[in-house]
Amino acid sequence: MVNSQFQAKKLRYFIQGLFLAFILQLIWRRRLYGEASSIIPSPEAYCPFGGLESLYSFITSGLFIRHIHLSNLVVFIALLTTVIIGKSFFCGWICPVGTLQEWVRKVGRFMDRLPAVLYLRRRLRKSALLKTLDRVAINFKYLLLVYILLETSRLGALIFRSWDPYPGLISLGELRWTTGVYILLVILNLSLVTERPFCRYACPLGALIGVLGRLSLIKVTRNADNCIQCGLCHHKCPMGVNVKDYQRIGSTECISCLNCLEICPKRALELRVPKVKIPISKYLYVALVMIIFLGMINGAKYFNYWSTSGRYGSGKNAVIPQDVHDEGYSWSEIRGRRDQGGYK
Ligand code: SF4
Ligand code: SF4
Repeated sequence: MVNSQFQAKKLRYFIQGLFLAFILQLIWRRRLYGEASSIIPSPEAYCPFGGLESLYSFITSGLFIRHIHLSNLVVFIALLTTVIIGKSFFCGWICPVGTLQEWVRKVGRFMDRLPAVLYLRRRLRKSALLKTLDRVAINFKYLLLVYILLETSRLGALIFRSWDPYPGLISLGELRWTTGVYILLVILNLSLVTERPFCRYACPLGALIGVLGRLSLIKVTRNADNCIQCGLCHHKCPMGVNVKDYQRIGSTECISCLNCLEICPKRALELRVPKVKIPISKYLYVALVMIIFLGMINGAKYFNYWSTSGRYGSGKNAVIPQDVHDEGYSWSEIRGRRDQGGYK
């Protein structure tokens, strides 16, 4: 059992590392060959949130918002499909911002052994005020999601881009000190002391995945007959989900990391599809979701529904931006451009 736990955890770190390395090499190569390179796609072209942000514009006008390409939409659709099949696999296994936070927290765990930190953590854990604040703050990401979608649709511009830690990571790789870089650094510093702070409180994509994930087919399911209520699953959950209170883990906070499933001493947790008696092996689950995600992206490439170019718009409507503004737009610029008819 210990060996199987070790293997599954390793597999997750390996997959996280692969996706992070893919994005980092894109950032590095763009830096080497320059922004205007048509050979190296922008790492932003792989962000599924861009596909969601541009959805309204694409449906109503057939045009993507600036900085968004067909690839963003494809990755977003692939992501949605994985959510319907395998809940929040993207958050726990793929997202590079989630991976960075998780790995920084591992470094932070060394600090947890210091007596002063240990003492402080024990005190804070007991604080009722902190618990209440946490309960309120985890809802912020849902408000943020709604606000971003409404405002982006209304203004036709990526209002969250300047604040988003993912473009921040790209800017950091290019040694440009943008707001996103500072936000990313704040998040990584907080990650030293707490698990995935951005995922927990402020990730708008995570908010959507969490909500849609409630409909997901495959979920961690608890067999109450085997469960001895030891609470180890709760203790090991990076998102603080009280697994022993659920029959099927539909929590919007769950990132499908499978830590709980691995740690359970009674094998009371399994991956299951409702009404199907046989549980799904965690390796089959990973293989299935990965095949769907990568298969859809590569399928789109094969059938030529893929573009990561600097053009926005599609077909003969495509427009090459004349004044690419890498920092995003200030509020006055956004309003000014909207009043002049938007970006299209
Ligand atoms: S770790 Fe397993 S046995 Fe313990 S509370 Fe969780 S589900 Fe029940
Ligand atoms: S430990 Fe279990 S409940 Fe917690 S995030 Fe991972 S899969 Fe979800």
